[in-house]
Amino acid sequence: MTTSSSPSPRSGSPTSRSVADSLSAHRWRKRRPASGSLHETGSDRRAGQDRPRRNGLRCRRQQRRSFGPSAASVYDQWWDFRQWSASAELTGDSPFDPERADAPSPEPRQIFAIGLNYRAHQIESGFAEPSEPMVFTKFLSSVAGPVGELTLFTDEVDWEVEAAVVIGVTAYRVSAEDAWKHVAGITAAQDFSARDVQMRPVGTPQFSLGKSFPGFTPMGPALVTPDEFDDVNAIPVRCVINDVVVQESTTADLIFSVPQLIAYLSAVLPLLPGDVILTGTPAGVGLGRNPKKYLVAGDSVVTTVGDQTLHHTAIEIPTEES
Ligand code: ZN
Repeated sequence: MTTSSSPSPRSGSPTSRSVADSLSAHRWRKRRPASGSLHETGSDRRAGQDRPRRNGLRCRRQQRRSFGPSAASVYDQWWDFRQWSASAELTGDSPFDPERADAPSPEPRQIFAIGLNYRAHQIESGFAEPSEPMVFTKFLSSVAGPVGELTLFTDEVDWEVEAAVVIGVTAYRVSAEDAWKHVAGITAAQDFSARDVQMRPVGTPQFSLGKSFPGFTPMGPALVTPDEFDDVNAIPVRCVINDVVVQESTTADLIFSVPQLIAYLSAVLPLLPGDVILTGTPAGVGLGRNPKKYLVAGDSVVTTVGDQTLHHTAIEIPTEES
């Protein structure tokens, strides 16, 4: 049985993306028994109060569960999915090819990004230190999978490694203390940025368009649940271009931490299951170099957050013929 909220398979063919495909395409990892519970604690139940009630009922009454068919719909049943995965026999999994994978949250309803959230990057960017998070959006059509080509739509396309947070339970007016309970997991992301478009108009730049060309928000390959990190507040982030390390830091250096960002954003609006927050990038972007340096065709970009890695090759805009 599939969920009523699931979109229809795109082609309607029997080979359209199945639940098994969706799940095997992402490393939904089983929680270590000793490190806490997949089973909800009292506070977890409070955090999850806003999920649809029918999910909790169905979860207990059904032995066999189905999720999907799209990976996106799993987030609407996140607690059911976590409970199911805690006891499911996951012996039939098989390796997946990251080249064929979509983003772990392929259809987020909202994508937030945070500018200037590492101090050294804020300084290299030439902006004043923010007194509160500097928020912009990236548009859905920029989302891409973890491996592929990056089209250079302008001559000033820059790199920004970012830890991406995916929301698992609706978060509205939550405190920083409760914030992690609303997170499904973390994945690697790039916030590719056409600086010429991003900085227009001069004096009052808008960030969103220059960061939303198709393919400018690749993510993946796996979503890693918060409990899987040795220290979820100090996740290593790194960007390597043509075998040269250009950015390296950890999320411990964030000016505004993940819990603080969730509290800040959710004070204004609900963060919905599957929503993505790109948490900012450390120093070392091309914009901050002297002279400035941007991607050129043929460049290899390897982006790592925790143990998740994206691979991209920069290409020119294909001609009409190709
Ligand atoms: Zn960014």
